Amino acid sequence: MKYLIAKSLKDAIELREKYPDFFLLFGASDVALKIKKNQVDGIIDITHLKELSYITKHKNSITIGALTTINTIVSNSYINEFTPILSEASKEFASHQIRNIASLAGNIANTSPVADMIPPLLVLNTKITLLSVKGERTLFLKDFIIGFKSLDIDNEIITSFEIEIQKSQYYYKKIGSRAKLNIAKLSLAMLKNEDGYHISGASLNPYVQRFTNLETLLNSEKYNDTDIQIAIEKDISPSGSFRSTKEYRTKVLFNLIQDALKRFNR
Ligand SMILES: Cc1cc2nc3c(=O)[nH]c(=O)nc-3n(C[C@H](O)[C@H](O)[C@H](O)COP(=O)(O)OP(=O)(O)OC[C@H]3O[C@@H](n4cnc5c(N)ncnc54)[C@H](O)[C@@H]3O)c2cc1C
Repeated sequence: MKYLIAKSLKDAIELREKYPDFFLLFGASDVALKIKKNQVDGIIDITHLKELSYITKHKNSITIGALTTINTIVSNSYINEFTPILSEASKEFASHQIRNIASLAGNIANTSPVADMIPPLLVLNTKITLLSVKGERTLFLKDFIIGFKSLDIDNEIITSFEIEIQKSQYYYKKIGSRAKLNIAKLSLAMLKNEDGYHISGASLNPYVQRFTNLETLLNSEKYNDTDIQIAIEKDISPSGSFRSTKEYRTKVLFNLIQDALKRFNR
């Protein structure tokens, strides 16, 4: 296995262009498992790119550098004050030790159906910025994640995430079988702002996405429990796994949505 170290951002994008099939490595909390399974031909180590680790507040938005760790997000006062749903999801993520090394970009780029950080970022309408030797581009996260383990990425490196500051109510719940080092059986991230409801969740589809049928239904303000049930069935296709059954995930999501609605309407 080839191991290359990027000493600068310029270095990193040039190596990315030259070796598109190599894995980028920051915290290695996902990549290490792939190395163990002999699934990796080469690594581009990006741990030296300190310039991609920051959280900045602007007048109407917050920018998070791609290589900001989950623990940095947990303890950041801007995130706590202006995007508390992201703060909550970060606190529920893995263990203190893993949060210390795991980066936000690594969690998104790994594109796991159980990735904890994707649902809150999706409901916050987050934009993602990518850089390659051809230049920079920014798109919505919802358009970046296009399928199971599939991203709209072309020899690029994620450099940052941008979240607009918005007045909203939020609800976040992660369900698992233990308090710490807990892989989600499912999670629900729900936000209500002046545009209406934004809803997403992990472990409920082959890749994390917005629940558009539920959003449309709840925004109509004319619905009953059966309508919610039907919208849930349209929005999710959970797999049955050793962690829980499809029926369990569907039932618990229904209960969480009821819980969230009660809280929003209080
Ligand atoms: C014990 C344990 C518990 C865990 N618990 C959880 C949990 O509760 N919730 C959860 O969501 N995840 C969990 N994970 C998974 C993991 O910690 C996260 O996905 C983490 O955020 C990955 O970040 P990293 O920096 O370690 O990425 P790495 O492993 O270094 O890289 C992961 C992937 O991201 C790509 N990548 C990294 N940086 C960039 C970039 N800047 N641009 C483009 N691509 C990039 C790499 O090529 C690679 O494909 C757990 C892992 C372990 C080992």
